[in-house]
Amino acid sequence: MIPFLDLRSINLRQRQEFHQALDRVLDSGWLILGQETQAFEAEFAAYCGAKHAVGVANGLEALHLVLRAWGIGPGDEVIVPSNTYIATWLAVSYTGATPVPVEPIEATCNIDPARVEAAITPRTRAIIAVHLYGQTADMAALMPIAERHGLKVLEDAAQAHGARQHGRRAGTLGHAAGFSFYPGKNLGALGDAGAITTDDAALADQLRVLRNYGSKVKYHNDVIGYNSRLDELQSAFLRAKLPLLDADNARRGEIAAIYDRELAGIPGLTLPTVATGCEPVWHLYVVRHARRDDLVQALAVAGVGTVIHYPVPPHEQSAYDGLGLVHGSLPIAERTHAEVLSLPIGPTMLDAQVAQVVAAVRRALA
Ligand SMILES: *Cc1c(COP(=O)(O)O)cnc(C)c1O
Repeated sequence: MIPFLDLRSINLRQRQEFHQALDRVLDSGWLILGQETQAFEAEFAAYCGAKHAVGVANGLEALHLVLRAWGIGPGDEVIVPSNTYIATWLAVSYTGATPVPVEPIEATCNIDPARVEAAITPRTRAIIAVHLYGQTADMAALMPIAERHGLKVLEDAAQAHGARQHGRRAGTLGHAAGFSFYPGKNLGALGDAGAITTDDAALADQLRVLRNYGSKVKYHNDVIGYNSRLDELQSAFLRAKLPLLDADNARRGEIAAIYDRELAGIPGLTLPTVATGCEPVWHLYVVRHARRDDLVQALAVAGVGTVIHYPVPPHEQSAYDGLGLVHGSLPIAERTHAEVLSLPIGPTMLDAQVAQVVAAVRRALA
């Protein structure tokens, strides 16, 4: 059996380091907003090349708090990809603003800048650019559009730790970026965790207040804030894992290159496209096939674990019935969701396992 992602083997590589991290936190006697979180924030900001990082409870909160800090609320519109994990949309909904979906460029699955421009109205306040599957959205096109219209750009970098565009890392390409350290992400904690990166010092200060009850001085509350903190233990675990991120991403890249080579030319199977200037980190290796569900079945029988990212687009979730976006209103997202399939990829996957996946795919589509 080849698991879709082997979190056990990924984390067991560092059993010792995690035990040491736990001991360090126990010995310090300090569990929330202390030295470990401060150190991780500095290390993660440096890794991305951003001036500031602010640790928060998870990736959804990272996105939500930035929109809050920008003063986005009821009556406002925020442009989001039509094909993304629902968290991107939920962050907008939390503020009372309306998510306005924009279709992707089909080849890269990332938001289409031309369609973004067409979707801007007098109510538009911001654009959330998701770096889906580990490849950055076309920020070189999006930033000038945002500038022309006076809009903020928030990167949803939950799947793109370390990804680059024209040499610059995700987390430095927009006005701010939200990261998730959910265990299955390229940089994953041993529980929930997230962070925001930005070069904007005032925004970073505001976020530190918002994540901690709206308080700068204990028991003095300036604004209606949240409890959305990254704790010391997860920070200590993340500090142990960050030094492995580049090597892990490189291993993902090797596996993607094998899939690219060995799965090329199979009729009906579409492989991922990398846009010029992009260095993806292969959070997911997503293929497309018109008879996707048959492929899932055949691979399951062959012992290959796969996942669909994602089976139902946000506008077709009951949660968003209220937007009135019926089936057929976002055809690219709908078609994508019907055809995509993520093959196993991860830093501890062996060449022999990759070869087994290749053989199983070839047999299934022969
Ligand atoms: C994982 C993910 C999130 C949410 O992160 P959590 O830490 O689970 O809240 C947001 N956006 C995208 C694209 C994601 O993949």
